Amino acid sequence: MKRDLIIIGGGAAGLVSGIIASRGGKSVVILEKGKKVAKKLYASGNGKCNIGNAKVDKDNYFCNDKEFIDTILTNVKLENIYQFFHSIGLEIIKGDNDNRLFPMAKSASVVVELLLCELKRYNVTIEYEQNIISFKKSKQRYEVITDTKKYISKHLIIATGSPASPNLGGNSNMLNILLDMGYDITPPLPALVPLKSSFKWLKSLAGLKIDAKSTAYIDGVESISIRGDLLFTEYGVSGLAILDISLYITKALSEYSYIKLSIDLLPNYSKKQLFNILQNRIDKNRNLTIDIWLKGVLHPKLANVISHLVSKEVLNESNLNRKLLNRIVYQIKHFDIDIEDTRGFKYAEVAIGGIKTYQIDPKNMESKIDKDLYFCGEIVDITGKRGGYNLHFAWCSAIVASSHIAKKC
Ligand SMILES: Cc1cc2nc3c(=O)[nH]c(=O)nc-3n(C[C@H](O)[C@H](O)[C@H](O)COP(=O)(O)OP(=O)(O)OC[C@H]3O[C@@H](n4cnc5c(N)ncnc54)[C@H](O)[C@@H]3O)c2cc1C
Repeated sequence: MKRDLIIIGGGAAGLVSGIIASRGGKSVVILEKGKKVAKKLYASGNGKCNIGNAKVDKDNYFCNDKEFIDTILTNVKLENIYQFFHSIGLEIIKGDNDNRLFPMAKSASVVVELLLCELKRYNVTIEYEQNIISFKKSKQRYEVITDTKKYISKHLIIATGSPASPNLGGNSNMLNILLDMGYDITPPLPALVPLKSSFKWLKSLAGLKIDAKSTAYIDGVESISIRGDLLFTEYGVSGLAILDISLYITKALSEYSYIKLSIDLLPNYSKKQLFNILQNRIDKNRNLTIDIWLKGVLHPKLANVISHLVSKEVLNESNLNRKLLNRIVYQIKHFDIDIEDTRGFKYAEVAIGGIKTYQIDPKNMESKIDKDLYFCGEIVDITGKRGGYNLHFAWCSAIVASSHIAKKC
């Protein structure tokens, strides 16, 4: 089967690449490993698809080569992304309180549906359940061998994503093939992922979601501090702030560093304010036990744990002194738990790692090693923060690569 372009991977980057190259007159086939394309896109933004971000720059990405991502973001402007989606019939709007972008219908499945309609309009073939075994270049043509077939094309785009979320198609088969071919790869690590801990009190806190300021320390050195949702679970911690923090500590965890998460349970209050609030609440005549007394300011589950952490003796309002109050304040502002690991690829939204960027030309995403071979999306060693930046990069890299191919004779 001969085509101008073979795209391996029918995800966000692969589908957009297929549309742009076929609009440029190229015959295109997309080879997809699964029975369905774009499973991550369907699941994105909890089904609402945070499709991009109106305020994007290189600092929104984890990448050793900031110039690389800067070049791509300079070449593909926000208007280009709007134009592309408008051209397939999709309107994009900003989120309510920030710069996140969403399809107007707030539906990820609509995004996939419209992408598929456009691919159909341009007669792009999608071949499902194609497990790629190898590919090679011979006589200026790429030969892609799958379990059952052989495909031939002049150009090849690899858009197979990352190993994150294997239930949604994530795997590292292609990275292993590229590794065998001599490509330099940063080993992928799970990111935007919950964190595991064996903190003694997790069982009693499980299910509690709070607005906290969480600070991660790597081997005793402060790494990152993020304010936002934190969810206590039986295995550790989750929530949006924790997913964000995972991006900063996943590498350190893989290198066996000691990670401590210090949680400020009441970030709206300074230590002094909290001390005064607590001191003013002491009523020696009332004589409440400390856990009940703390429930006036903290969630009962936390009040219970803090009272255990502060003293092994049964305390009540009548025997609270300045030293004990200081300890209570300290525990509330520094609720420390050790982090042992991430929850792994199974629960990760993305992976940090992939093909090192020095092997790719950012102006067109073409491999500097193999001519007419292109890389798009998450397979590249560029990872965005939460907020639409990963899909944003998938679109940008796809637009750059496929526009370049489309312009070729
Ligand atoms: C639950 C979840 C929610 C997310 N929400 C958001 C969000 O709201 N906003 C955001 O910006 N990002 C989000 N992301 C991240 C985003 O979905 C990915 O970064 C993006 O989909 C990457 O696009 P891609 O085309 O590179 O890879 P993918 O979309 O993963 O597509 C890769 C495709 O290649 C196929 N494939 C893999 N290996 C092979 C092979 N060897 N041969 C053939 N085909 C293969 C896969 O089956 C898949 O269809 C989310 C991720 C998850 C898991």
